[in-house]
Amino acid sequence: MTSDDLRREFLAYFEQRGHTIVKSASLVPQDDPTLLFTNAGMVQFKRTFLGEDKRDYVRATSSQKCVRAGGKHNDLENVGHTGRHHTFFEMLGNFSFGDYFKPLAIELAWDLMTRVYGLPAEKLWVSVYKDDDEAHTLWAGNTDIAEDRIVRLGEKDNFWSMGDTGPCGPCSEILIDQGEAISCGKADCRVGCDCDRYLELWNLVFMEFNRDKSGEMTPLPKPSIDTGMGLERMAAVLQGATTNYETDLFMPVIREIESLSGHAFQQSPELDVSMKVVADHSRAAAFLIGDGVLPSNEGRGYVLRRILRRAVRYGRMLGLTKPFLHETAGKVSQVMKTAYPELLEADTYIRSIIRSEEERFLGTLDTGLRVLEDALAEIKTQGLSRIPGNLIFKMYDTYGFPVDIIRDIVRDEGMSLDMEGFQKDMAQQRLRSRAEKTSSLESSAYGELSAQGIKTHFVGYEHRKAESEVLMILRQGEAVKQAGQGEEIEVVTAETPFYGEAGGQVGDRGHIHGQGFDMEVTDTFKDPNDIIIHKGKVLKGSISVGKTVTLIVNDEKRSATEKNHTVTHILHAILRQVLGDHVKQAGSLVAPDRLRFDFTHFSAIDQDTLQEIERLVNDRIQQNIPLEVQEMDSEEAFRTDATALFEEKYGDRVRVVAMEDFSKELCGGTHSERTGDIGLFKLLSEGSVAAGVRRIEAVTGAAAVAHTQEAFRTLRVLAETLKAKPHDLTDRVEKLLAQQKGLEKELAASKAQLHAETSDRSLSEVKVVNGVSVLAQEASADTPAALRDLADHLKAKIKSGIIVLGSRTPEKALLVVVVTKEHLDRYHAGNIVKQVAALVGGGGGGRPDMAQAGGSQPEKLPEALAAVYDIVARA
Ligand SMILES: [Zn+2]
Ligand SMILES: [Zn+2]
Repeated sequence: MTSDDLRREFLAYFEQRGHTIVKSASLVPQDDPTLLFTNAGMVQFKRTFLGEDKRDYVRATSSQKCVRAGGKHNDLENVGHTGRHHTFFEMLGNFSFGDYFKPLAIELAWDLMTRVYGLPAEKLWVSVYKDDDEAHTLWAGNTDIAEDRIVRLGEKDNFWSMGDTGPCGPCSEILIDQGEAISCGKADCRVGCDCDRYLELWNLVFMEFNRDKSGEMTPLPKPSIDTGMGLERMAAVLQGATTNYETDLFMPVIREIESLSGHAFQQSPELDVSMKVVADHSRAAAFLIGDGVLPSNEGRGYVLRRILRRAVRYGRMLGLTKPFLHETAGKVSQVMKTAYPELLEADTYIRSIIRSEEERFLGTLDTGLRVLEDALAEIKTQGLSRIPGNLIFKMYDTYGFPVDIIRDIVRDEGMSLDMEGFQKDMAQQRLRSRAEKTSSLESSAYGELSAQGIKTHFVGYEHRKAESEVLMILRQGEAVKQAGQGEEIEVVTAETPFYGEAGGQVGDRGHIHGQGFDMEVTDTFKDPNDIIIHKGKVLKGSISVGKTVTLIVNDEKRSATEKNHTVTHILHAILRQVLGDHVKQAGSLVAPDRLRFDFTHFSAIDQDTLQEIERLVNDRIQQNIPLEVQEMDSEEAFRTDATALFEEKYGDRVRVVAMEDFSKELCGGTHSERTGDIGLFKLLSEGSVAAGVRRIEAVTGAAAVAHTQEAFRTLRVLAETLKAKPHDLTDRVEKLLAQQKGLEKELAASKAQLHAETSDRSLSEVKVVNGVSVLAQEASADTPAALRDLADHLKAKIKSGIIVLGSRTPEKALLVVVVTKEHLDRYHAGNIVKQVAALVGGGGGGRPDMAQAGGSQPEKLPEALAAVYDIVARA
């Protein structure tokens, strides 16, 4: 059975039994911005299980893309060394939202396993939670499994919970006995052993209780079912493969690695590790980039970077010194195209992102490896086994080596890593780069302020006006006690409603008042320690440290900014809905008068789609949806080395901004209260900013109205000018253009006719001078080019001779002289034109066969042309 069949059979089986097939959610969780990656089938149904999100079905089935890397389940360093650990995998599942429970879940699972997939009952085992008598009875009574193959296990193996609180319940697993040969050989090898003999195939979770903060569990009114079957594992069993890598999901990729590297799979255990790493990581990289993740130095992007660089390092062990990963990842798109056609569509994009990351890292990999090996040899000769933090940092900072690579290299050498020292160096570097960025802000003064533990308290989410004490005044970078009228200063207060520029949203403007004092705030920004700095000019009076002032944000500008900001959330969600899950915000600028939104996407968006996007955004605006803002703990969400080190823009508490169920983002900015406040969204442009990144510019609210009015004004003026109704304009202009084309054609025809007539008439005026045919004549041509054309035309007619043509406008005369080749030994066009031009107050010259000139006395042209015959006679 191919894995495509396996996946399809699973979904079809449950669909036939009343389940709705639900498409895999993106690897970047939409409903849960605190989760690094989608890591199970139930993630997209989390809110449905909690009863917060009603769906129009109560049974669902899916094949879900999952990534486990970089988070709590950091499998990265094991991948390649085992046959079953993966960064990317698919989870097949069936779900009941308060509909059926244990009896049907067990019955269906057993039927699918034994009858449809044809696994022999005598090889299967089942585990249940130790206290779950009900499950035990159901398995024993309703299926044909032998009762002695039902095993009770403890909380660690067979109890599931969504989090510390919330839904939880016992689970039950179906396992297959792969036989003695695969056993670890330990005396206590049985179901629950970590080795591969008893392989877990399918986990059925019985969501039965709700756990509260005190740990007490109460039964749920409507218990639910959540199951998960690893597709790769099941494929291995059905295809008789010893490891997941030997299935049809991996083998085509491994064949590609074989052909690129010239090494064969399963010939050497060391090389096999490298092949498995490359194969596994190619899959993760292709799917992550397909879902819009880009390599970067923080968060999800850094996990992707670690995966890519680890693969490149292992590729090097296979002798692959040129970029190769984009090829193996391209193979993944081929293998997965039936289930994920969108991956194949994004293939070019995925390859180009991988290739540029490969090239970047290959530039430092060799030198880095040499430096690392030398350093490790040195450590060993000193009899040490701990890799110092500053070496780990140097490898990261200078050579771009994620820590995983160092771990891989010393994996079998029993060496430990001084991660504490590494993090200390990282922290210092962060301080240095902050200092660089803010040197113009004279950060030393602000640094002293934060050294005293002072942070500005931002009250601008709720208020636009506040009273507070002046903590610091800076004039030209120097802290001063007081400042007076006309001075440009920076002011820090204990509390402020002013938003300091961050996350793309510009800083607030407004005024600071005091007794007889008024300061205009022209910009607000933050120092790296979250001190909010008001910059501006004292309009009157004076301000001193320690005084209480009133801070008032410019209401109009702030509201306009909030409209533009809020609409970026809507736009982001709509872009994903219309263009696909690969769309991810890549940057934004939110100002009072406009907004800019950059996002990952691989091609230009056509006008129809843009209009559809604009329409859908305005739909959401009109639904007047309230924005819900929730503050929550980010600690657990970001407990990974990647995020702990790099995710510095999020503090201990994160703000989650949601609009019903279609948008949920981590965001520290300020927003409108309801989407209706935005009023109107008008898209201005769409274009490319970098490889794989597009930009949309737009306006909202009053600016959108002004823009629309301006566009209509232009249209009206145009209509009046053309004497047409606005909606007839297209027709009218098309007609005009057609008319113009016709006129141009007519004009060309009559010009040709005129030429012909002129030349016929001219030929009768040819005089023979010194045995040479000479024609000197005034012509009607308004440009030098037209005059030259006419001369060429006449030249073709007279075949041999000298032609002098002149034309005039009220301001000037034009002249052209042509000498045919038979007469070039005696005559020079340049010399002739010079003499003729002199008679019309000009000069000129040119080649022996053709020359042009101009003159400022057009009234003398007839006289000059008459003189041509004499000039030729004398020459
Ligand atoms: Zn074992
Ligand atoms: Zn926001």
